[in-house]
Amino acid sequence: MADELEHKFEVEIKEREGRQKLPDSVKDELKASGMMDEKGKLKLKGVSPKMLKRMKQEYVECPILKEDTHFIQCFVCPNFQSRVMGKVLCKGGKL
Ligand code: SF4
Repeated sequence: MADELEHKFEVEIKEREGRQKLPDSVKDELKASGMMDEKGKLKLKGVSPKMLKRMKQEYVECPILKEDTHFIQCFVCPNFQSRVMGKVLCKGGKL
């Protein structure tokens, strides 16, 4: 199909027990763009509390950063295109 989104990687979304910490640099970015309040509460448009809870336990093995990356960080990454069937479609650009 011609209108299929272009992406370079399909990255599997993995899950682990309990919450994972977001790096401070990512928190600062989220705050600067209004997606996190001063208390550290996430405010992502169109994401339900239930979905958010799940997202907090997820991570990807990012092919660009070459390390396990919190799904929230991935979700707001410029390379993030969409989430389809447990995978992130990633544009694969340099970060
Ligand atoms: S969208 Fe960003 S964080 Fe997610 S896999 Fe791609 S480069 Fe890594």
